[in-house]
Amino acid sequence: MRNLILAAAAALLAAAPVQANELAATAAALRDRALSDTTAWTVTESLTSEVGARPQGSPAMDRARDWGVAKLRELGFENVRVETYEAPSWLRGPESAEVTSPYPHKLAILGLGRSTPTPRGGLEAEIAVFRTLDEMLAQPEGALKGKIAVVTERMRRTQDITGYATAVRARSIGGVEAAKRGAVGYLVRSVSTDDTRLPHTGGARFSGIPMAALSPPDAELLERLAARGAPVRVKLELASTFREKAPAYNVVGEIRGREAPDEVVVIGGHLDSWDVGTGAVDDAAGIAITTAAAKLIADLPQRPRRTIRVVMWGAEEQGGSGEAYAQANAAEVPRMILASESDLGAGEIWRVKLPAGALGHPAMRAFAQVLAPLSVAVSPEPAQSGGVDVGPLQTLGAPVAELSQDASRYFDLHHSDDDTLDKIDPKALAQNVAVWAALVYAVADSDVDFRALAGGAR
Ligand code: ZN
Ligand code: ZN
Repeated sequence: MRNLILAAAAALLAAAPVQANELAATAAALRDRALSDTTAWTVTESLTSEVGARPQGSPAMDRARDWGVAKLRELGFENVRVETYEAPSWLRGPESAEVTSPYPHKLAILGLGRSTPTPRGGLEAEIAVFRTLDEMLAQPEGALKGKIAVVTERMRRTQDITGYATAVRARSIGGVEAAKRGAVGYLVRSVSTDDTRLPHTGGARFSGIPMAALSPPDAELLERLAARGAPVRVKLELASTFREKAPAYNVVGEIRGREAPDEVVVIGGHLDSWDVGTGAVDDAAGIAITTAAAKLIADLPQRPRRTIRVVMWGAEEQGGSGEAYAQANAAEVPRMILASESDLGAGEIWRVKLPAGALGHPAMRAFAQVLAPLSVAVSPEPAQSGGVDVGPLQTLGAPVAELSQDASRYFDLHHSDDDTLDKIDPKALAQNVAVWAALVYAVADSDVDFRALAGGAR
């Protein structure tokens, strides 16, 4: 009888979520271990060196998929699998651009994703320069007939993504708007904070005309040439291939929960990249940070209550991976406790936004305390977005968290040939892992229910 009672008591203890103070102690230990753990660095180094740049629909993306499967298995993840779907694939061919008049000058450019190729032999036209996107939008229909439109709007350097979010419209919709006004080509100042002659590519809406990004110094030269009043002519030669539907892959691995394995914390980064650089800050770092955080938790003496799932989304840059993931896993969304993607480089985390009402739960208050030595604050504002690939899950009702990284330097590198491993500070990378590990552990080893807390907060 006594043994039975003891066994029952032991079972009850094992079934109960760990107490807040115990949880805080384990989260703090994870934080400290993360700061000296080199897994994230090793994973970033491995992906950028063994696979390199990996645009969606390229042979490199197939190698990235195989790399992801092998890496997750090697690190001890369970249920490692590939979810296959179809997503657009735009692949760059040879490109060049030059000023032909008033004098010859080679321009440093990169075609934008979804750009149309120029006719063979290139396209030459007079340019029309606008210092802001709005200035071009103010032009009436037909005003740019036969011209190459150039928008040279500058991006402000900010710690968060405000600077980028404001400036990126010139890249994403500028081409469509130029085409509507009769333009035969579109050039945009790179959406970047850098001052080198490296252009920065990125996705754009299909416009039916050739579109490319100029290096910032070249954009400024075109401004100065145009200001002199005489016609400025530019020759563009862009080649590319486009498939609306190319095979794409989300690679998944799990640390199965000990008690409630069907309740899932979904984290990850995106495996694809643009074709320039080696996709180190965008987004090998995000893959590495989340993988390393899950691995540290897996190395604890006992598994957390809930399952931690790492997703390596395969088509963020050209779109489709988040939608495909949400569609394939829609039935499970009610059991997704929290979802978040790391996709803003490798700068330190300076702020965390949790779902509304989160601090009403002791596990989340314990997590907030654990962050103090890292000088990371939990914002009183609720998270708005958990990242591009998490958006469709959020639409279906999954609670999200936002781990804000310092993006001050990110847009010097992003989508350019300078996005390489040497730009990553291993210490900052480890700080990211510390915050992710503490958060993911606090959620996975507690019974926090953000949906209920959000209801209470209203
Ligand atoms: Zn990204
Ligand atoms: Zn990107």
